Order: sequence, then C-alpha cells, then structure tokens
Amino acid sequence: MIISMKLGATKEQIEDICKRIEDFGYRVHSIQGEERVVIAAVGTGDVTHCLESLRSYDSVESAVRISAPYKFVSRQYRLDRTQIAVGNTVVGGDEFVVIAGPCSVETEEQIMATAEAVASAGGKVLRGGAYKPRTSPYDFQGLEEEGLKLLRKAGDAHGLAVITEVMTVTNVNLVAEYTDILQIGARNVQNFPLLKAVGRVDRPVMLKRGLSSTIKELLLSAEYVVSHGNPNVILCERGIRTFETETRNVLDIQAVPVLNKLTHLPVVLDPAHSSGKRDLIPQIACACVAIGADGMMVETHPNPESAWSDGPQSLTFDGFKKMMDGLKPYLQIWQANRAVAVPS
Ligand code: PEP
Ligand code: MN
Repeated sequence: MIISMKLGATKEQIEDICKRIEDFGYRVHSIQGEERVVIAAVGTGDVTHCLESLRSYDSVESAVRISAPYKFVSRQYRLDRTQIAVGNTVVGGDEFVVIAGPCSVETEEQIMATAEAVASAGGKVLRGGAYKPRTSPYDFQGLEEEGLKLLRKAGDAHGLAVITEVMTVTNVNLVAEYTDILQIGARNVQNFPLLKAVGRVDRPVMLKRGLSSTIKELLLSAEYVVSHGNPNVILCERGIRTFETETRNVLDIQAVPVLNKLTHLPVVLDPAHSSGKRDLIPQIACACVAIGADGMMVETHPNPESAWSDGPQSLTFDGFKKMMDGLKPYLQIWQANRAVAVPS
C-alpha cells in the first residue's frame, strides 16, 4: 500500500498513521517528497480493512494498494523521478550522462589518459573495473584495491565521478570507500546478499540487467536495494541474450519507455556490452539518446587492440570523441523532450 499524507500533515499525524499501519501487521517506510510525505506499507495483512481505516483519517490524502510486486521502486510509490547527484552531474536530471572508461583499470598511464579523454569529450563519470567478472578463470581478474586507487586518482585529477563493480559482500565497504557509484554486474544482479549489502551503504548503485533477467526481475532486484535503505539506484540495460549471434547481446532499447512507465528510477543504456563491436556503437548511441534514456555507458581505451579485457568493443579516444560529437543533434531533441515529458 501507498499512503499519501495531506500537505502540511504534522509529524505526530504521520507517526500516528505509521503506528496504525503497523498494527495491521505491515512494515512502514516513509519518504519526504518535494511536497508531501508518502508512506509505503509492505507485508501481509488485512488490506481491505487497513485501507478503509487509513482513508478515514483527516491527515490522509489517499491510500492505495500497489499491485506490482515491487513497491518502493514503483511509479505508484513515487510520482517524481529519482534524481541522483554524482560528482558534477545528476543522473535522472536534465542532462544525458555519459559514463565512459576502460573495461578494466590496467595501469596508471592507461587510466589517467582515459580520464583525460573522457573529460575533454564531455563524459561525466569515469568507469573502470578493478574486480572483474570473467567467464574464464584464466582471464585477467582485475587489479583489485590497486585498481580502485588508480581509478579514484584519475577521476579526481580530471573532475570526473567514478563507477566500479563490486562483486562480493565482503568488498562492499572497501569499494564504496573509493567510488561514487557501486556497479552490480549483470552476473550478480540476482545475488541477493550482495543486493542487501549495497542497500545498506550510502553510495548510489547501478544495477546491470542480467543476461536473462526480465524487466520485472530487474525491478525486484532494485527493490532489494531500496527496501534495505538505499533509494539511489540506477538501472542499466546492457543487452540480453537471444538466439542472435552477430552481436554479443541484443540491446533491449524498448526497456527504456517500459521502465519509465513502471519505475521512477533512472535508466541508462550500455551499447558496448550489448553489441560487443566498437564500430556499431556510435550509431546505437544515437538511438540511446533518442529513446530518452537518462544516460549511457561505453568503453574507451588508449589502445583497444591491447586491452586486457573487452578490447573489441572499446572505442579509441578518437572514436569516443567522434561518437560524442555525433550525439549533439540528438541531445538537443533529448533536452526538448525532457523539458515536457514525464511519463505517468
Ligand atoms: C562491465 O561493465 O565491464 C561488465 C562486466 O558488464 P556486465 O556485467 O554488463 O557484463
Ligand atoms: Mn567490459
């Protein structure tokens, strides 16, 4: 259930309502919106009687049952869109946010040069893996804490926020020390202990859709994070597995308008991990902007041919700059649409 309090409801009235809801056997979670307080009640209880009772209070504007299995991330829970401030930008705000960097942090020279290229072309967040989820145990697994240090240093040197993947519960606090956004990779998006753990830290989380996650499953993963106390979740569509073999995965671009209907969380697209091919990325990137995503993540590397991971999908610096330049006309349309369209 979602209970919207009337404008100007007092602290005592809100507490009173929370107590009443708990008496019916529900857990409560209240959020101070821009205008009013909204309370979510989760659990099992006598919904009909609870709603009836809540609607009889003068302080309650409305009380509705949320039919979706996810509550806190549902649009019914929050009508305005979640905006997440990171570094000098806002994901879900009035700017299309480009996240870029190498698949893996390799050396100081590599990440420093990449940070410079990303910042100078208009990227706002530097990515780079320090803990890598590799299909083969013989492939490069990441520089671990040394990689986190180098990423932070490079981001700071060029005024970029940073994002990196966390793969295990035991590393959450360590990774959070160095990064502005915690990335949960596609392979870990249903690692429920990990989702709970990142739900307890004060860092935005970017959840990558699993190779075979449905949109509902992705939203339920987000629900784990938010219901454990962290409201700052970014969803990332990075390509799903289909019968097609010409590209690494298939970018489910229609997930953007679908998710915008279902959730208030920001959505970014990753045309690098979806296509697996650098020459396809600039064209797909235009579609990412045109469809109205909140941002995009791509990989770029000083010398993709010798990258330690994901070289074939990594843009050269020149390619990255050209892609960013090619986005400009689409970004103007994006800005104009953003000013008018908030899907409901
Ligand atoms: C990555 O971003 O480098 C990555 C491993 O992504 P995914 O989890 O989407 O495969
Ligand atoms: Mn990668």
